[in-house]
Amino acid sequence: MKRRPIVAGNWKMNGTQEQAAAITRELLAHAVNPRVEVVLCPPFTALAAVGKLLGKSQILLGAQNVHWESKGAFTGEISAPILKDLGCRYAIVGHSERRQLFGETDAMVAKRLRAALANGLSGILCVGETLEQRKQGKTWAVVEAQLKAALDRVEPAAAQTQMVIAYEPVWAIGTGQNATAAQAQEVHEKIRNWLVQRFSRGAADGIRIQYGGSVKADNAAELMAQPDVDGALVGGASLEPKSFIAIVESTFQAKEAGCSTASS
Ligand code: PEP
Repeated sequence: MKRRPIVAGNWKMNGTQEQAAAITRELLAHAVNPRVEVVLCPPFTALAAVGKLLGKSQILLGAQNVHWESKGAFTGEISAPILKDLGCRYAIVGHSERRQLFGETDAMVAKRLRAALANGLSGILCVGETLEQRKQGKTWAVVEAQLKAALDRVEPAAAQTQMVIAYEPVWAIGTGQNATAAQAQEVHEKIRNWLVQRFSRGAADGIRIQYGGSVKADNAAELMAQPDVDGALVGGASLEPKSFIAIVESTFQAKEAGCSTASS
C-alpha cells in the first residue's frame, strides 16, 4: 500500500523564538515537496512563533510532548487542548530522552498517546531499544512491550488515521551511528506485522512507521528506500535547514522510486 511519507523535525531543547523563526523562514523559502508530510516540533516556547510563520503552508506544527490531563494543577505541563490552540497537529510521545532522563513509564506514554488522540492530535509514538538490550538479543521484546503498553486501549480507526510510530533505537539517537537500512527494515517489518495482529491488515498497511536515529542527508536515501520505512524522525539534522530539506527530498525520491517499481 502506498503511504504518504512523513518527515518530522524534533528540535529538542534548542532555539529561542528568533532562532526558531529563522529556521522556519529558511524552510519556507524552499518549496517543500507536497508528497511528503513535513512536521516541525520546536520547543514549547517557540510553538506560537513557528506556528504563526507556518500559517497555512504545507508544513505542520507538532509538540515534543503532551500531558494526559486537559487542564488543572499540573505545574510545568502542557495539555492537548493548549497545543491545539497553538495550531499543533502532532505531538511526540515516549521519546527515549523522556523515558530515560525523565522517568517516563510505558503507562505514562500510553496516557499521553490516548490524550493526544482523544483531542484530535496525531501522536508520534517513539519506541526503541538500548544498545545493551540489542546486544542481549532483546530488541524485539523491548519494542513489542512498548507497543503493547502504548496501544493497549487505542481504537483501530484512531491508530490508522492519527498515529505514526517512530522506531528509534536509543543507541542511534544523537550518536552519529544510525541503524543500517537492513536493521531498520527488520524492526519496521516486525512492527507492521505486530500491527496486523493488533488491529487489522488494512489498518497496519495505513500506519506510517518512521525511522529515527542519526538520520542525515547522506544516509536518508538508503534508509527511506526500505519498504516499511515511511519517513524519518530527525533530531540534530532538523536544526540545519539545508540538511532537513535534503532529507525530505531524499525521502520523496526513495518513495517515488519504490512506488514506480512496486506492484501495488
Ligand atoms: C531524535 O531526537 O528523535 C533523533 C532521532 O535525534 P538525532 O536525529 O539527532 O539522532
